[in-house]
Amino acid sequence: MSALDQKIEQVRTVLSAAIRDFPPVVFANSLGAEDMVLTDIIARNHLDIGMFSLDTGRLPQETYELMQVVRNHYAIPLQVYFPDSALVEAYVAQHGINGFYNSVENRKGCCFARKVEPLRRALAGKGAWITGMRRDQAVTRGTLAVSAWDTDNGLQKFNPLLDWTNKDVWAYIRRHDVPYNKLHDQFYPSLGCAPCTRSVTPGEDIRSGRWWWEDPNSKECGLHASRVIQIAHGTGVSAQKFTEQSTELV
Ligand code: SF4
Repeated sequence: MSALDQKIEQVRTVLSAAIRDFPPVVFANSLGAEDMVLTDIIARNHLDIGMFSLDTGRLPQETYELMQVVRNHYAIPLQVYFPDSALVEAYVAQHGINGFYNSVENRKGCCFARKVEPLRRALAGKGAWITGMRRDQAVTRGTLAVSAWDTDNGLQKFNPLLDWTNKDVWAYIRRHDVPYNKLHDQFYPSLGCAPCTRSVTPGEDIRSGRWWWEDPNSKECGLHASRVIQIAHGTGVSAQKFTEQSTELV
C-alpha cells in the first residue's frame, strides 16, 4: 500500500469513527483543494455525512462555479448557508462595505457576520463536524488535533487531513480527477472571500495570500481561533462577544 493509500485509509477510519460515535455528522466544505478531497472520499465511500458551505456574499466567481460543479458531480446535496441580513447590514452601516481593511477587529467582525454566525446555525443540533484543515497551512494550526471537543460550538470536531501535505492533496486530486477551484491554477493556494484573498508567488507561504495586510498570528477567520473579541459596537445589533473557534470554511 502506498503512503497516500495509507493516508486515505486513515481518513476513512476517522470519518467512520465520527459517524459511529458522534452522529449526526456534517462536513463544512470550503470548496478549497483539501475539502474537495474530503468531498470525494465521503461520496466515494457513501458515508453518512451531510455537507454544507457558507456563502459569505463575497466569494469569487470561480468558487460559485465550483459550487455548481459539486452539485452536478456528486450525489451528496450541498446545503448553502447565507449570512443573517440584519447582521451584515448593521456591520456595513458602521464600518462600510470594505471596512475589514481598517483593523483586525473590523476584519474579524466581518468574518463573524458572514461566517461564524452562519456556521453556528449550520452546526446546531449536530454531534460532530468535519473540516479539511492541515497542520502545515498556518502557524495558527500547529497544535490542532485530528479529533477534539469544540467548546465554542458544543460538538466534536474532526480534522482528518491534519497530517496531509499539499503534495498529498494534489496527488489525490490528480489520481481521482477531482474537480477543483480554477483559481488554484492561478497561484491561489488558499481561497476565501474575493477582497481578502490574493495570489502568491511560488515558494511563498500558503497562507500569505489571505488577509495579507495582517500579522500571521491573527490570520484565522473566526471559525478557528481562541480569543474573545468584540464586534458590532453600537450597530443596532446588540454588541456580541464571541470566542473564536475552529474551521477554515472560507
Ligand atoms: Fe469579510 Fe474578508 Fe472575512 Fe470574507 S474574509 S467575511 S470579506 S473580512
